[in-house]
Amino acid sequence: MSKKDYLAQAGVNTRLTKIGYEPRSFHGFVNPPVVHASTVLFPDAGTMERGDQAYTYGTRGTPTTDALASAMDALEGSAGTVVVPSGLVAVTLPFLACLSAGDHALVVDSVYGPTRRFCDTMLKRLGIEITYYDPMIGADIASLMQPNTRLVHTEAPGSNTFEMQDIPAIAKAAHAGGAVVTLDNTWATPLYFRPLEHGVDISIHAATKYPSGHSDTLIGTVSANEQWWPKLHDAFVTLGVCTSSEDAYTTLRGLRTMGVRLERHASSALSLARELETRAGVARVLHPALESFPGHALWKRDFSGSSGIFSIVLDIPDQARHKPAAHAFLDALQFFGLGYSWGGYQSLAVHVWLADRTVAKAPAEGPVIRLQIGLEDAEDLLADIDRGLAAVRSA
Ligand SMILES: *Cc1c(COP(=O)(O)O)cnc(C)c1O
Repeated sequence: MSKKDYLAQAGVNTRLTKIGYEPRSFHGFVNPPVVHASTVLFPDAGTMERGDQAYTYGTRGTPTTDALASAMDALEGSAGTVVVPSGLVAVTLPFLACLSAGDHALVVDSVYGPTRRFCDTMLKRLGIEITYYDPMIGADIASLMQPNTRLVHTEAPGSNTFEMQDIPAIAKAAHAGGAVVTLDNTWATPLYFRPLEHGVDISIHAATKYPSGHSDTLIGTVSANEQWWPKLHDAFVTLGVCTSSEDAYTTLRGLRTMGVRLERHASSALSLARELETRAGVARVLHPALESFPGHALWKRDFSGSSGIFSIVLDIPDQARHKPAAHAFLDALQFFGLGYSWGGYQSLAVHVWLADRTVAKAPAEGPVIRLQIGLEDAEDLLADIDRGLAAVRSA
């Protein structure tokens, strides 16, 4: 067996230390060089005319961005990956690659908020019609397919409220109607869910989150199967949405330790979620790995792990008190930072805004607080959340 075959059969943490880059290709240095480049030189006019070498211009990729892309291919089982400047671009790129004026797309209602903004503004202006669907719709999505439905966008679990989706059933119905299936796989990472093995065509990551892992990099990746890779790559080149090698480098460095970081994020988050289910003042905990969660069976069937972000619904039925209660909770926290994004080493909390939902409406019991559980000691985080709950009681 070759070295490559041994690696292909190894555990995921072993693979994370090696995928994407071959040290012998650059003098044995463990990490790839950070190649800063616009211009790439050609040896002669013929080669230049044919574009007949691995690299031709910086917008199309460098050895550094390629190292990250091929690591993602190894994790996702994809035919090709493009590296783009943010998670949001990772979502908008496949939409722009696959949709034309007059087309219709189905988008899950629990979608990442800025994805909805893109659909409701730019796609609408370009003459593309969007229907938001219930995350729990499953195979019934067939009833929403129109003759011009060209794309079905999924996100599992959903943003902020973590609804699960029956991805294989949705993919089957979408393909029967001739639509491409995209999935925003940011929450699970390719370590805990492998979309292309469940019928998805294009898997999207805000690699800003767990892959980069340190709240210092904005980056996205889009990985496609054989069928959709040429179209995706063509849109990437056409739009020129390239990423700096510097950011690709920090993300690949983050990826090397993502497995062990995720284990800690996951175990702290799940133990806190279980504990919070028993707390007075908490109406509900929204975490797919909890047996009480409505989409739990789907999570258990398709996913091999859970990550470090979930939400709690405070028990504040009076609508007028939602905001003061949420603010009292957030302002009492000493260790959780108040800030957007997630996947980094520090815990973060945010009062979630859900007023734009059309089907998957906000919980009625009270305000939703999203918690990103970082790498701190879980006891400290629980004490911090208890401080928040105490502040809500005395508010
Ligand atoms: C954060 C996030 C994005 C966008 O990532 P950015 O790098 O912040 O643009 C996309 N999808 C999901 C599910 C996210 O959580």
